[in-house]
Amino acid sequence: MNIQDILKQLNIAADNQGVSTGTVWSEGKGARLESYSPINNDYLAATQHTTREAYDEVVEKARQAFKTWRTVPAPRRGEIVRQIGNKMREYKEPLGSLVSLEMGKSYQEGLGEVQEIIDICDFAVGLSRQLYGLTIASERPQHSMMEQWHPIGVVGIISAFNFPVAVWSWNAMLALVCGDVCIWKPSSKTPLCAIACQHIIAEVFKENNIEEGVCNLVIGDDAGPWLSGDQRIALVSFTGSTRVGRIVGQTVAQRFGKSLLELGGNNAIIVTESADLSMVLPGVVFGAVGTAGQRCTTTRRLIVQESVYDKTIEVLKNAYGQLRIGNPLDANNHIGPLIDENAVNTYLKAIETAKAAGGRVIVEGGRYTPEGYENGFYVKPCIIEAANDLDIVQEETFAPILYVMKYTTLEEAIELQNSVPQGLSSAIFTSNLREAQRFLSAEGSDCGIANVNIGTSGAEIGGAFGGEKETGGGRESGSDSWKAYMRRQTNTINYGNSLPLAQGIKFHI
Ligand code: NAD
Repeated sequence: MNIQDILKQLNIAADNQGVSTGTVWSEGKGARLESYSPINNDYLAATQHTTREAYDEVVEKARQAFKTWRTVPAPRRGEIVRQIGNKMREYKEPLGSLVSLEMGKSYQEGLGEVQEIIDICDFAVGLSRQLYGLTIASERPQHSMMEQWHPIGVVGIISAFNFPVAVWSWNAMLALVCGDVCIWKPSSKTPLCAIACQHIIAEVFKENNIEEGVCNLVIGDDAGPWLSGDQRIALVSFTGSTRVGRIVGQTVAQRFGKSLLELGGNNAIIVTESADLSMVLPGVVFGAVGTAGQRCTTTRRLIVQESVYDKTIEVLKNAYGQLRIGNPLDANNHIGPLIDENAVNTYLKAIETAKAAGGRVIVEGGRYTPEGYENGFYVKPCIIEAANDLDIVQEETFAPILYVMKYTTLEEAIELQNSVPQGLSSAIFTSNLREAQRFLSAEGSDCGIANVNIGTSGAEIGGAFGGEKETGGGRESGSDSWKAYMRRQTNTINYGNSLPLAQGIKFHI
């Protein structure tokens, strides 16, 4: 896969000096930002940080565009999103390749991300005809009440490196059909993927003569705090670590803006006595090592019933022994690189910390150097038996480390599963209906996602995605997540000839 060919297919230049093709992104005035592939630390291309001046121009263009976009009928906005979905189908292969190269996930997963964009476009098209409000019975005669949903304004989307295109689309496509305009600030580790998406949607906007400013892109680390603190940004949808999410949430709340937070997870799988081990194995291994442990829904803890503990560990050890680490573009490999050297160091430090705190290594981790990829950031997936209450187990380390622990009763397993600060994804493997139902009940998992006989990662577009506690409480994607991108208005209409007050209050004049 040659980067120059991919950039050419995506119509983007190797040195991005800024473009303005029916939509807006930062003009090329800021400091140079270079992008490297984690596969072998090869240079890919460069772009620029957005300057404050350019950022302000983008926000003003967005505000201007909002005035028109909010008046376009929602199904017509859906039609534009339908065309974006089709354009993404055309560009699926080069864009999927760029995602793999820049983020370091496998080509299949790169294509999978673009498929998520296509899926959310399809979802949003249907949604554009279903932005329903309620009608409500009024207590007053000859009065009617209803609820309407209106566009909220400019939506800032700050995204993480690990899903460089999908997470943006979950937000942007819903926001667009809702009548909002967007400003996207991607991770500075994956700016090229964002530029590619911007070019693709710009084609659609141009073909439909849509004014500049509906979908915008700003680049560089400064732009995140600018968006969070900017009174002009009605909603900040932030995807990233709990550490940064805490800052963003507080900054936005300070100015009474709205935020949608999608933060870190510390996801567990419970393996019960009646679990089908042939299903547990792929569920756990894909969950723990897929995307080199760099998914918010990665399986980080495995809570196993004591009677099946030894067997489960043996099967897992065997499976880990067969995993191939290397270039993620080679379909024979299971595990690609971490994003950068910092990520490798964080991973190595976490293992040392777990060991020092009494963790027992079951599958040894460490740095790994595939032949020919000496400059890449590869590590070995590892398994450590550790107590749930160790500080390091309570944290999300964004790498393939799986902590395993035993339980006796299901109540104990659920207690262990819930006893972490995060609340994103969870799963139970069982053939026992009572256990499954209890896990899904109000006294069961406290996470935003709870699965039965499926691992913790790999959610579908149709459901609401997100989690509780330190995961931030936000919901994106399917179900009624669209409501976060709109403002609710309650309307009462008096079609009678008198003016009765609510609650029977009399006011004589
Ligand atoms: P990160 O928190 O380091 O960065 C996320 C984004 O925030 C980046 O675009 C970054 O430039 C920006 N940013 C940094 N400082 C900022 C500030 N002060 N104000 C505003 N923006 C700022 O996260 P990351 O390393 O890119 O991604 C990994 C994390 O994201 C993990 O914790 C993972 O669990 C989480 N994540 C969560 C979900 C979810 O849906 N819950 C999905 C993907 C990733």
